[in-house]
Amino acid sequence: MVKRYYCDFCDCSYPYSDEAFRKHRTGHHHIKRRRAHYDQFKNARERLEDDAKKSKCRRFLSGQECSFGDSCVFSHLTPAGTEALQKLAQERRN
Ligand SMILES: [Zn+2]
Ligand SMILES: [Zn+2]
Repeated sequence: MVKRYYCDFCDCSYPYSDEAFRKHRTGHHHIKRRRAHYDQFKNARERLEDDAKKSKCRRFLSGQECSFGDSCVFSHLTPAGTEALQKLAQERRN
């Protein structure tokens, strides 16, 4: 059986060989996906920092619709959302 290499960033696998590995790691697609992957962590931390400066949007968190949506000056992060972001931000360091 041919050994396959799985790339977490691209979520794809390909038959393993040194050449294929090297080609993949330097390919446009892979580099783009890799950057997006790390941006996600960076964004998580930045979003947490931004969020810490805001007060909670009472309207949104009481289950009502907030017409400001993403541009609301108050935080729309739920405790679960905060937790998910914290997890993401921590994974970055491991
Ligand atoms: Zn890849
Ligand atoms: Zn709001």
